[in-house]
Amino acid sequence: MRIGFGYDFHRLVEGRRFVLGGVELDSPLGPDAHSDGDLLVHAIVDALLGALGRGDIGTHFPDTDEQWRGARSLDFLLTLRRMLDEDGYAVGNIDANVILERPKLAPQFDAMRRNIAEALGIDPAAVNVKANTHEGVGEIGQGRAACAMAVVLLEKH
Ligand code: MG
Repeated sequence: MRIGFGYDFHRLVEGRRFVLGGVELDSPLGPDAHSDGDLLVHAIVDALLGALGRGDIGTHFPDTDEQWRGARSLDFLLTLRRMLDEDGYAVGNIDANVILERPKLAPQFDAMRRNIAEALGIDPAAVNVKANTHEGVGEIGQGRAACAMAVVLLEKH
């Protein structure tokens, strides 16, 4: 078995869509990012790459590469699915946490889990998504940023 950890952080700005786990949120602000800024998926991608010992998201999907401008981050997971197959690993489970002041994410958790699981070709029961606010403290608490963390467990085929 192998474990991996991932973290992502983005500033939130006006005039950007806010996509999390492939679900578009009702929000006047969205992540300032080269891709769609799906920080939940970015944290999971980094956790998977970490578990595989394959570096990080910036190496594989660089924000200097025009091919990833506005990219749908869920599609990054299709690449990870191929890497998992190549290296002979299956996802045991994924646990992720989003820290965001608003909007409330709980109504979207199941849709996010389904999107992530479908992209990776795994059971949605193997994906857990949860969230916290930052209780009004700091940049995240003021609604000017959001972050996500994820851990994954991989099992050798
Ligand atoms: Mg990111």
